[in-house]
Amino acid sequence: MEKLKVKLISYSMLVEKKGNDVKDPDRIVAESGAISHSKEFKDLSSDKVEHLINLLRDLGHESVFEHVSFTFSIEGISRVCSHQLVRHRMASFTQQSQRYVPLDPDFIVPESINNSEFKDDFLRILEESRDLYKKMVQAGIKKEDARFILPQAVETKIIVTMNGRELRHFINLRAGKEAQWEIRAVALEMLKQAHKVSPILFDDLYKKFID
Ligand SMILES: Cc1cc2nc3c(=O)[nH]c(=O)nc-3n(C[C@H](O)[C@H](O)[C@H](O)COP(=O)(O)OP(=O)(O)OC[C@H]3O[C@@H](n4cnc5c(N)ncnc54)[C@H](O)[C@@H]3O)c2cc1C
Repeated sequence: MEKLKVKLISYSMLVEKKGNDVKDPDRIVAESGAISHSKEFKDLSSDKVEHLINLLRDLGHESVFEHVSFTFSIEGISRVCSHQLVRHRMASFTQQSQRYVPLDPDFIVPESINNSEFKDDFLRILEESRDLYKKMVQAGIKKEDARFILPQAVETKIIVTMNGRELRHFINLRAGKEAQWEIRAVALEMLKQAHKVSPILFDDLYKKFID
């Protein structure tokens, strides 16, 4: 997984900062939840924020988690992985287009193949597909057609935005041992970075999958 790069590039922030050290996404969720019982968006203490977020989760009142969002840039994954990622319908995606990328596609090679007797054949076929792809493009075949020769191992990059509810759902499905290794690595990295900026909202998942 040395090629994988996951980076949290933006997340929800308050325009008017509050006094204590509660992180903005946690505060936005808790104070949005609290508004159903009081008139104002209050300056809640850290303990109260934690209590409210846990209560919302335990009650299944998770629509409140949709008030915060997280945007990640993900590089160095295969199209196998990105295909699984884009099945998550509540997220927003922008993926590198194969119609406009440079001529020299790269590939992701699973460790199991890299360490096996199939490595040489696997790498040779990747090279052959890349060579034919380049030859076809140079001969005037459009990239949108030439790309049909590229295997699922072809490397891609993608920007993903999820609200807090969807990110929690995604992590629950994709960070567990039953998930495929590549998307699992992506989900675990997203969890680590989301937990840094929203430690209360992601605390239970951090304990479940990382601690
Ligand atoms: C281990 C694993 C193996 C898998 N294997 C396969 C496989 O073999 N073949 C395959 O096709 N897929 C497979 N998938 C993908 C899986 O079926 C889902 O498409 C994918 O995980 C997205 O999950 P989701 O629909 O819950 O999430 P999202 O699309 O992110 O949706 C989030 C939630 O919103 C709600 N929602 C979204 N859209 C609708 C809707 N139209 N109607 C009602 N509620 C909705 C649901 O509550 C849903 O859980 C696999 C997933 C995992 C984790």
